[in-house]
Amino acid sequence: MTIAEKLSFDVQLSDHARTAAEREQVLADPGFGQTFTDHMISIDYTEGQGWHDATLRPYGPLSLDPATSVFHYAQELFEGLKAYRQITGSIVTFRPYANAARFNRSAGRMAMPELPEETFVDSLELLVETDRAWVPTTEGHSLYLRPFMIATQAGLGVNYPSKSYKYMVIASPAASYFTGGIKPVSVWLSTEYTRAAPGGTGFAKCGGNYAAAFVAQRQAVQNGCDQVVWLDAHEHRYVEEMGGMNLFFVFRDKLVTPALTGTLLPGITRDSILELAGDLGLETEERLLSIEEWQSASEAGELTEVFACGTAAVVTPVGTVKGVDRSWTVADGTPGPVTMRVREELMGIQYGTRPDSHSWVHKIV
Ligand SMILES: *Cc1c(COP(=O)(O)O)cnc(C)c1O
Repeated sequence: MTIAEKLSFDVQLSDHARTAAEREQVLADPGFGQTFTDHMISIDYTEGQGWHDATLRPYGPLSLDPATSVFHYAQELFEGLKAYRQITGSIVTFRPYANAARFNRSAGRMAMPELPEETFVDSLELLVETDRAWVPTTEGHSLYLRPFMIATQAGLGVNYPSKSYKYMVIASPAASYFTGGIKPVSVWLSTEYTRAAPGGTGFAKCGGNYAAAFVAQRQAVQNGCDQVVWLDAHEHRYVEEMGGMNLFFVFRDKLVTPALTGTLLPGITRDSILELAGDLGLETEERLLSIEEWQSASEAGELTEVFACGTAAVVTPVGTVKGVDRSWTVADGTPGPVTMRVREELMGIQYGTRPDSHSWVHKIV
């Protein structure tokens, strides 16, 4: 079957799916990314043949040759989005075509094949519909969806990208990041390490970016901070991102966010907040913002709030900032009103308690 045709999935239902009681036990305290649903999606790609063997089958391990390309050269990419149970009982995802488009932009950078957007969204729909009992009913909880693609050719030749790939989707019930109130995070300014440089893979959602980031995250924790803040590779001055989240700076009623220079990951939450800002009567600006400006505007009281945003934790306030030779607090270090308003609006659309005026919600069942 070619990519032009809509793939039809071979469905193999699990004969060892967990019982309702076992599932409820997991859903009572799901954590994040620890337990997976009963099924998974798999689609193979072979050069010359295109995408084929689309299946939904029981969740379980893969068997791969130890020489498989992904283990050695990290030709891999992923996506992350959630399925929400709305107050009406419907199960929805949020802007899945935006994830499909970003998946293909990442694929272009990693010399991997594109997957038709329809196939990407169909695969999510099929998995969520099949495992819909795993979508939590608790407020603020969701089913986290993890589509990814790996290079599967066996062999150690380094000169060419793999000729075969596997696309998969797995799903995991997720608790709200914040249990017992929203708590601002402390951040460490990383001047020793760099996440991404011009011409590199910063805009692609690939595992390699994360592999290179763990050492800086560990350093942040050693310095008593929750998260690392990445700065530009050249001057170590301009703010890029916080861990796996984008950043927003609140200057009274203006939202400033670092411009997408090619080294930042273009978050769908970031993009959505830029659009929502207008609805909330906030101005927006995408530009460079230095750590000197962050510190001086905080101290002058012009910068009133800072928050990070991403699918997993939605909107997270930033309270204190620390670097090798400086540290300061944003306003009084507590979650600010703009941060909380943006968070409520976004989650309200996702959970169906606010009108979806941008048509972002994609109904599955
Ligand atoms: C995924 C990701 C984000 C957030 O993207 P969303 O689409 O909003 O979830 C931000 N930064 C990095 C490095 C990421 O990997």
